[in-house]
This record gives sequence, structure tokens and C-alpha cells, in this order.
Amino acid sequence: MPDRLTNFAKTVISTFICGLGIPLLIREWVCRNRVTILLYHDVLPEVFAKHIAYLRRHYKIISLDTFVSSIYNKDFSEIPPKSVVVTIDDGHANNIKLLPIIKQYHICPTIYVCTQIVNTHRHFWFSIPQRTKKEKEQLKRMPNAKRLAHLKTSTDFEPKKEYQNRQALNINEMKEMMQVVDFQPHTQFHPILPHCTETECKQEILESKTDLEKFLGVECLHFSYPNGDYTEREIEIVKAGGFRSARTTDLGWNGVNTSPYKLKAISISDDAGLTRFRAELTTIPQRLGKWVNALLWKITN
Ligand SMILES: [Zn+2]
Repeated sequence: MPDRLTNFAKTVISTFICGLGIPLLIREWVCRNRVTILLYHDVLPEVFAKHIAYLRRHYKIISLDTFVSSIYNKDFSEIPPKSVVVTIDDGHANNIKLLPIIKQYHICPTIYVCTQIVNTHRHFWFSIPQRTKKEKEQLKRMPNAKRLAHLKTSTDFEPKKEYQNRQALNINEMKEMMQVVDFQPHTQFHPILPHCTETECKQEILESKTDLEKFLGVECLHFSYPNGDYTEREIEIVKAGGFRSARTTDLGWNGVNTSPYKLKAISISDDAGLTRFRAELTTIPQRLGKWVNALLWKITN
């Protein structure tokens, strides 16, 4: 579907959801005793500021660590009603621009970074221009070695190649941010873990922990699966590696009985205006989007 049509459809759906008062219902019924984990990537500061100001008015923003501890203690008494945890994936260079907002609102977000991409001029493989959305989706479904071979032949991409422009945060920015930001690993190079061999998978998960701990001099106990993809194998490696939690992209809210290695999240569009943001907090647009994408994939394959 052309992007303009998709955006128009999203605006209409979001306006409809907000017009029906669904965001209020979800907030008061579903979120009262559950924790919402939001997931951003390369969000613009002006967009982020509007979202956080809205959350400050209607929700209570808490840290990931506070929430994970409450799961381990099986005790939600320290968790205020309508709590939200803000997480940001990958470690995009533009995240430094969020620092004034993070400081202003005291939100203590968790930024999960790819530890062999931050502080380098290496690129995220998914940012390499693909011909179509379908090709990108196909790449995500390939065995790791095949995906890398395909990227090398089609775009001359290599995970360790240094490019002219920098896509990820550097060490000075991270050190400046770490007073108010919780940095955690998101693998070394962002492969799709279930499509890796066991050796690749262990290296990506365990060495990203070692990398970041060396890099920042702090203990890292939380992980997030690239693209939200995981199987029991990844969970076992994460557990055995000493992590206390892992965030997925499984859509939904978290309760006291949620597995700490399968934390659910609500993915927010990095360019969402306030209406779309409020609609996305209900998860309805994302559920519709998934359904449409699955249908299109079926039709075209
Ligand atoms: Zn990611």
C-alpha cells in the first residue's frame, strides 16, 4: 500500500478511536493494574516531548528496574496505577536530542543499544535502502548467514564496514546521557536471533552484555530481542547469561505474573502526532496493521 494511503488510513482510524473515547476506557480499565512498556526507535524530539507531556498528565512514568523488581517480588504495591516504562531500541544517534526532555520530565528511559554499532561509523543493516518493504521482510526471515550474504551482494553492506555518516550514539553522548538514562544491550549487530546458529546467538547476546558493561562500567541486567523475535532457546541463553529481564515486541500490557523474559510492549510510531499516539496506546491500530500486513504477505507469497 502506498505510504500516503497508509498514513491517511491511520489518521482516520486514530481519529475514530479517540472520538469513541477508547483511550480513556483502556487507561482507566486496562492500565490501572498493569504496566505499559512503550517502545520507540528514532523518535524526533518534538514528537517525544508531546508524548511525554501527555503521559505526565495521565500516567505515572517509572523505571524498568522498578517494574522488574516488582515482578520478582510478586508485589505491585510500589507500582502506581497506570504506570508506564519508556524504552527506546537500537541506540540511534538522534537519541541524544531527547536528553533535555528526559531531564525536564525525569522519565529515566531504558535505551537498548547494539553494542558493536554504538561509538562506530558502522550502520544498522535494516537502514540499508531495500527495494521494497517485502524484500526487507524476506531478509528478516532468512538464516543469518544467508541474510548477510544477500546484503553483501545486493548493497555491499558489511556489519563491520565503517561508513562516512554515523548512525548510532557515541561514547561521549552515552556518558552524558547515562546520568538519567538506563543503557542496556540489544545484541551486538541486531541479527534476527531465531535465525542465528546457537554459537552466533550466544555471542550476540552474551558479548553484548560484556561489551556494554566494559564500555560504561555498569552492570547490565536487561535485554531486548532485536525485532522482538525470540524462541525458548533465546530465553534460556538470556537467563543463563545473568539477565533479569528481556523485552519483546509482543503487543500488550504487563501484570505481576508476566514472565520477566517475555515483557510485552506497545510499539509507538516515531512520528505519531498526539491523536495517533493516544490511539496507539490502545493497541488497536497496531493490531489492525499486523492483520493487514499478514494478509498482504499471504496474498503476495
Ligand atoms: Zn532493534
